[in-house]
Amino acid sequence: MDLSFRDEDIAFQAEVREFLEKNLPADVKDRYDRGLHPKKEAAVRWQKILNDKGWIAPNWPVEYGGTGWTATQKYIFAQELGRASAPPPIPFGVSMVGPVIYTFGNQEQKDQYLPRILNSEDWWCQGYSEPGSGSDLASLQTKAVRDGDDYVVNGQKIWTSHAQHADLIFCLVRTDSSGKKQEGISFLLIDMKTPGITLKPIIGLDKEHTLNEVFFDDVRVPVKNRIGDENKGWTYAKFLLGNERTSIARIAQSKRHIERLRDIVKQERLNGGYLEDDRDFMRKVNQIEVDLMALEYTELRMLSSIDAGKKLTAEPSLLKIKGTEIQQRLTELLVESLGMYGAPYEALKKYEGSNEMPVGPDYAHGPMAEHLYLKAASIYGGSNEIQRNIISKMVLGL
Ligand SMILES: Cc1cc2nc3c(=O)[nH]c(=O)nc-3n(C[C@H](O)[C@H](O)[C@H](O)COP(=O)(O)OP(=O)(O)OC[C@H]3O[C@@H](n4cnc5c(N)ncnc54)[C@H](O)[C@@H]3O)c2cc1C
Repeated sequence: MDLSFRDEDIAFQAEVREFLEKNLPADVKDRYDRGLHPKKEAAVRWQKILNDKGWIAPNWPVEYGGTGWTATQKYIFAQELGRASAPPPIPFGVSMVGPVIYTFGNQEQKDQYLPRILNSEDWWCQGYSEPGSGSDLASLQTKAVRDGDDYVVNGQKIWTSHAQHADLIFCLVRTDSSGKKQEGISFLLIDMKTPGITLKPIIGLDKEHTLNEVFFDDVRVPVKNRIGDENKGWTYAKFLLGNERTSIARIAQSKRHIERLRDIVKQERLNGGYLEDDRDFMRKVNQIEVDLMALEYTELRMLSSIDAGKKLTAEPSLLKIKGTEIQQRLTELLVESLGMYGAPYEALKKYEGSNEMPVGPDYAHGPMAEHLYLKAASIYGGSNEIQRNIISKMVLGL
């Protein structure tokens, strides 16, 4: 693994840092820093700034709009985003369906969708999970029946993040029930404005509306919106899940959270001193920092393997488990560090136009919301129990 910084890497780091200082909108930075979900308008505004610079999709091949960066440059970029509290792009377009389209889509699909993903003109959502088909995703029941040049889709998806903002949904549907369940699935791109699609919001523990149920009632989808071959959708679905799990560790963001924690312990009073004098609490902060460093090196090894053209096996599962466990422990510690000011759920008051004075110091607004949302981190993207099953099968041969 060679990830030492050469002179040109250091110059690149300075370039990224300067760009973020000059171009990251203050409102986007502040919301992200507090762990609040981005507003659609703000996310799109920021993503267009990244795209204008040509930096929206570092992992894409250059021919489709990627940057051609080395593993070291990608690492530097991710670190600088985290350091500056700059949100990475919403994953559903750039990190999930985009790579599926340029890897398995036809030329017409590439021409139609890829530029619009890069420029955030289409907002995508992910239609995988169904009631009863989450971990056992291949058991999904949403049906697509061929009728001339269309499929007619009927069924339901659930836990569909940000579907209320979406222009398009990439969906796994059943096109054959005769053989093994994995063999009868197809991958469709569906316009959310198509008649027959309805949404029902699910309000999360954090009181925000990010999740939805999506219902399909005789929804006509042109056959040309299918990616690849009919009944081969499971292959494309698994490719996408592998990509999702590698980006879910959010190491740079956890580093930023440790910095926040270290700021807070200098300001929170305890027993006539400060929280930073409390050895028990600081032991927990130090332990999590050590765990994060170990995870970072695991990620670096993985990036280096990808660069060397090696095929990944269980590494994304490992990153997903450890990354999400650290995120959860960190937001728990952030809340704990705030004492009684951690409890009131104030974040939305300040950000959604209320004129009530929030309780507690400014740095107390946000951690509780993020702590509650991240309870889901060990579930979404494939639960951590399922990731352990993958590791036990692929690494231990159980
Ligand atoms: C905040 C959030 C956002 C999400 N966003 C999306 C989205 O945008 N699009 C989308 O398609 N889905 C989304 N999901 C759904 C997510 O992928 C599923 O919740 C997840 O795959 C688990 O499925 P499930 O909820 O049906 O739980 P189940 O599969 O019913 O699992 C219940 C419990 O049993 C355990 N379990 C199940 N099977 C096994 C096994 N074989 N071995 C050991 N333990 C097992 C699980 O780990 C879990 O603890 C989201 C979920 C959340 C919470």
